Amino acid sequence: MLTRLSDLKPGQEATVVKIVGHGAFRKRMLEMGFVRGRKIRVLLDAPLRDPVKYQIMDYEVSLRRSEAELVEVSVDEAPEEASLNSKHTNKSPDSDISAQPVNQAKADSGHQRTINVALIGNPNCGKTSLFNIVSGAREHVGNYSGVTVDAKAGSVKYKGFRINIIDLPGTYSLASYSPEELYVRRYLQDETPDVIINVVDGSNLERNLYLTTELIDMDRSMVIALNMADELERAGVELDCKMLGEMIGVPIIPTAARTGRGVNELLDTVIRVYEGTEPSVRHIHVNLGNDIEKAVTQIKDILKANPHVGLHFSPRYLAIKLLEKDSQVEESIRQLPEGKEIIELRDSLLEHLPQSNDDINMAIANAKYGFIAGALAETMVTTEKEEINSTKIIDTIVTNRRFGFPIFLGIMFVIFWATFQLGSYPMEWIESLVGWLGDLTREYLPDGAVKDLIADGIIGGVGGVIVFLPNILILYLCISFMEDSGYMARAAFIMDKVMHRLGLHGKSFIPLVMGFGCTVPSIMASRSIESRSSRIITILINPFISCSARLPIYVLLIGTFFPEHATLVFMCIYLLGILMAGVTARLLRRFYFGEDVTPFVMELPPYRVPTLKATLRHMWGKGEQYLKKMGGIILVASVIVWALNYFPMHDEDASVEDTEITLADDSAIDTSKDSYLEMAGKAINPILEPLGFHWRASVAALAGVPAKEIVVSTLGVLYTGDEEVSEQTLSARLTAPNPITGKPDFTAAAALSFMVFVLLYCPCIATITAIIKETGNPRYGLFSIIYNTLLAWVVAFIVYRIALLF
Ligand code: GDP
Ligand code: MG
Repeated sequence: MLTRLSDLKPGQEATVVKIVGHGAFRKRMLEMGFVRGRKIRVLLDAPLRDPVKYQIMDYEVSLRRSEAELVEVSVDEAPEEASLNSKHTNKSPDSDISAQPVNQAKADSGHQRTINVALIGNPNCGKTSLFNIVSGAREHVGNYSGVTVDAKAGSVKYKGFRINIIDLPGTYSLASYSPEELYVRRYLQDETPDVIINVVDGSNLERNLYLTTELIDMDRSMVIALNMADELERAGVELDCKMLGEMIGVPIIPTAARTGRGVNELLDTVIRVYEGTEPSVRHIHVNLGNDIEKAVTQIKDILKANPHVGLHFSPRYLAIKLLEKDSQVEESIRQLPEGKEIIELRDSLLEHLPQSNDDINMAIANAKYGFIAGALAETMVTTEKEEINSTKIIDTIVTNRRFGFPIFLGIMFVIFWATFQLGSYPMEWIESLVGWLGDLTREYLPDGAVKDLIADGIIGGVGGVIVFLPNILILYLCISFMEDSGYMARAAFIMDKVMHRLGLHGKSFIPLVMGFGCTVPSIMASRSIESRSSRIITILINPFISCSARLPIYVLLIGTFFPEHATLVFMCIYLLGILMAGVTARLLRRFYFGEDVTPFVMELPPYRVPTLKATLRHMWGKGEQYLKKMGGIILVASVIVWALNYFPMHDEDASVEDTEITLADDSAIDTSKDSYLEMAGKAINPILEPLGFHWRASVAALAGVPAKEIVVSTLGVLYTGDEEVSEQTLSARLTAPNPITGKPDFTAAAALSFMVFVLLYCPCIATITAIIKETGNPRYGLFSIIYNTLLAWVVAFIVYRIALLF
């Protein structure tokens, strides 16, 4: 019985018949393994009935109902042979056994001992883990797709060679569909690495090998790292790597990047391939079926004869891509002197093929998957199947329709609780250490500007921020755990429907959660979102997700004014940011970008227990960054703020003429004694006064524009003035009455409004730069500055007025 995938119930199984959708979506589905004859099972619905989780081959994928509607399936026993129609191609005579010219030229010029290696593979197959272990780097690893968005370079000396290794973003294929695919392809074209390490996820072999078949078409020197060999073994699968490698003409080395197993052998093989001494290397063709092969050969021959072709990619690869109507390849061929004729030939060949245009892609994907299935059938033995699959058990609870949301909110609550409460103990220790240092300088240094600079400017400013290091480490530990375990991808799954209402995809959710750490990398992470408008919206709303630099402000003010309800207020601030992000997304979608039709497919990786080493490394990396910031921008800013606050009133020669600047302020008591900072603060205060800000608060907010940490360091510098209370904590100094007004500067309502303002206003300079760089348009940076600041003012105003009522 034929039906649509969307009509199936959880637990039901069916066989894929065809994909009805249009170009890009259809292509992506084929690459993901949705080919004719493939079994698919409905696993479960998300809490809001959308999306739905499916199992195909050995991995899980989530599709929206609207996407599943485009997959035609048959529910009874289906045409099994379709997926196996080219089963024996691997050993048939049409595999081209002509030896490959493996970098012969390079090997001959023996003195050159540098090998450039690129890591290419599907998302989440362990490329970065491998990269880190080979090069000793500490790049970010996470258990979901789209972690690496940039090429990262590292290098290692090995057996007399310098091996330069590049970690690339994950990609399912080398089509021109998503930014990553284009990026990787451009990299292969421009940089031409000597050897490609194709990293393959052993627990998900079939789909991962699809990319391998494309690399085979490209005809590059290549080694396969069969990663996650440990998981493969645990699942009771035996794979004859040697035989499989010989079949496809690429050496295969089992590795476990997490522990470092097999890495030396991998490097040995890379060297052998580079030198042309690896016996298993040969060039094969994946047979695409007689009709298509004929067309490929015709185009290939013309391309081969053309002197302008084949510099970067093999003619066969280009011919296949032309038949697939890959827009980028088509464009580049069109540029050639005889380009037009080649395209015309392609068009006429396509017309004469029995398949319709869309079916060509299907047929090619089918043939490739058939080839893979055939090769695996001969080399892979599954001895025992693990009956209880822990991923399945966790998922039935965590993505449960009823409990999914509460569990997610509960996890968020625990994270905030830990950040605030657990962090407060080490925070107190550091606080007393800082206080002790301050007292020490006050006691032993001679009176004067230097003493004040060190005690108030440096210890007050930097010390005021450094105490929050534990909170930030805890927050990063939690985020890192969510990322590494695979829960992050589930959170995106649960949130898909909500994100869809905002005009986004569940995929946008991951960059947003990462934004709790730092906005800059999370803006970079938005690159994994295929649709341009969704990507830009995700980038623009990201600054509303409160980053860890703003954390000290909340910890300070909440700890001071709302100690009994700390976690709750904490969470509300974050939720407010999320709410504003949502509202902004809606508005942008509605009034600027218009509806988005690009569908996407998201993979749900199996849960993995994060390694302690990776997690601690990740956390320590962040801590290091934070400390570096302390020694850099925060230190400089503290000194500047201190100096502006210190002069001219402590300056004996200060002329009284300086007072003209403060004319605007009618509340100044003795203008001749104002510091520069006070003048500036009082000048801008009329704008911020309706929000309940005293001039010091206004200055702190203004100072936070370069980096949000400076808000607290500025408060630290500004509230150290009185000698009698200097040994107290910053929080005590904040609530001490102002000697001039007789009242404390901050009230609970003002503190709340201040936090809201800092949460929402103008992003820091690094973020603005990232926004401009990632969108490629300075207008979006400008938008962020103006819109966010206006929004911050309005919301803080409302919050302040409401808070005053209580
Ligand atoms: P990338 O997206 O290809 O760069 O993959 P990552 O290096 O970020 O790793 C993805 C996930 O797989 C992480 O959770 C890793 O800890 C995990 N992982 C990587 N290599 C192995 C391995 O050999 N065995 C196991 N069990 N897990 C691995
Ligand atoms: Mg990576």
